[in-house]
Amino acid sequence: MGPVAALLFTVVLSLVPTVLFLGLWYGLLALRDDDLVEQARAMEARRPTYSSSPGARKQSPTRPDASGPSESDATVVCPRCGSRNAAGVTYCWHCLGEID
Ligand SMILES: [Zn+2]
Repeated sequence: MGPVAALLFTVVLSLVPTVLFLGLWYGLLALRDDDLVEQARAMEARRPTYSSSPGARKQSPTRPDASGPSESDATVVCPRCGSRNAAGVTYCWHCLGEID
């Protein structure tokens, strides 16, 4: 093997991983289903936000709360133990007593 052949062999050996990687990259780009990605994105945007639970209300601070600072309207006091519960609940979170 002459020096030119050895140099050529080295250059080819160093280029093969790059070519293989580029082949994999462009292969993956060709495999990507753009319609499916768009469908998933549209489904994500259409998904309704369940804000009925009191925890979900705290997770969206950007939304202006309709009840505002009057926190007493959104809570109900348990008749058995006096704990504050979210309005509309059936049972107390603390003593599990029934709330009217
Ligand atoms: Zn209670």
